[in-house]
Amino acid sequence: MLHKISLGTCDIDKYRLIEARGLIDEAVSLGKELKGLRLCHINSTPFGGGVAELLVSYIPLLRSLGIKADWQVIRGDRRFFTFTKGLHNALQGAPFAEIEKISTKRVYLANNFANARELDPNYDVFVVNDPQPAALRHYSPDSNTKWIWRCHVDSSQPDATVWDFLRPYVEEHDAAVFTTSEFVPQDLRLAKTTTMAPAICAFSPKNMFIKKYVCRELLESLGLDRHRPLITQVSRFDRWKDPFGTIAAYRLAKKEVPGLQLAMIGSFAQDDPESWDMYAAIHTEANKDDDMFVYSNLTGIGNMEVNAFQRASDVVIQKSIREGFGLVVAEALWKEKPVVAGNAGGIPLQMTGELSHYLVNSTEECAEKTVYLLQNPAVCKKLGEEGKKIVTQNFLMPRLVRDELALIKSLISK
Ligand code: UDP
Repeated sequence: MLHKISLGTCDIDKYRLIEARGLIDEAVSLGKELKGLRLCHINSTPFGGGVAELLVSYIPLLRSLGIKADWQVIRGDRRFFTFTKGLHNALQGAPFAEIEKISTKRVYLANNFANARELDPNYDVFVVNDPQPAALRHYSPDSNTKWIWRCHVDSSQPDATVWDFLRPYVEEHDAAVFTTSEFVPQDLRLAKTTTMAPAICAFSPKNMFIKKYVCRELLESLGLDRHRPLITQVSRFDRWKDPFGTIAAYRLAKKEVPGLQLAMIGSFAQDDPESWDMYAAIHTEANKDDDMFVYSNLTGIGNMEVNAFQRASDVVIQKSIREGFGLVVAEALWKEKPVVAGNAGGIPLQMTGELSHYLVNSTEECAEKTVYLLQNPAVCKKLGEEGKKIVTQNFLMPRLVRDELALIKSLISK
């Protein structure tokens, strides 16, 4: 059997205090209609990165609605995850020479075949997240289950060879879900293709309210100066998150804001073999500067700590150059923080209205907007309030529950 992640339940009614009642009623009603449905989300890592973050909060909510929801993780070795990281990068437009080699494609397919043999056939619906397990459905030919492929990356301009390889496997699903219609590759042929933005959990340790003085104390215990300004980027150690662009922007900003500190919080994920090299390179940069701090999930920086960093920061940076959605942006906005972020992928979905002025296309622009915000706390406050409103209306879990259950209902009733 695949690894099943152990999770509890979480009552959706908690959200009635903060979210539109109608939407929660809809989710509850869909839950009643689908009561007892056996649903399994599958992905390739139990920690690190947005999909794991999403599922850890999402599955317990489904359970509270009467859905028999599980989360299972495929197995794989380093060769497999090196290949699938290449697929991930190539879906976001990077070239990937390995795709030409029959031997590496065989590693991918053999792995999917082996994982498919371990699937429990009794589920009614499988939701397969991202490219790593995308061929599971191919190796489950007799399945009566409904299969949904959920793409979390910006696949608007995929590398053509990689997409030609993946597309036939994706097209064997009953439906595909993308974060926004711009990410749907034009030649995808499926009976059902739909869009759904991800969401965050308002009550998780990552996002729950923590008093500011506690956050500042925590940061002080990690060596930061609570009396000096702080900017933070939280993301996997990944090239698309442009960590060196963030560091360069910080250096420019520091010329205008003496004493500025930068925290780079990063995570390693089971399915991301590239992260070690990136981590080492960022560390080398940090060693040159006493006001730059690098922390990770390997050294005890978990959800609460990330929460504290986001809350204690004066400005949150997310200088991505490609981004499927960027849960970190929603997390910071939820905490009423001003965000300066790359004008990429799913980020502009979240930073609308006034917030869109802080979408940046270069290091210089990132530095300039950051300095402006650090020097204008009243603007930060206004943006913070606006950001929280946007997240409350669009990017909290009940909306995602409603959207996914509505899709499943439509597939099952066919
Ligand atoms: N994250 C974390 N610790 C880290 C880095 C990231 O907990 O050191 C979390 C972050 O808070 C967010 C998720 O990992 O919830 C990243 O999701 P996002 O959609 O921003 O990016 P992805 O990793 O999926 O590309």
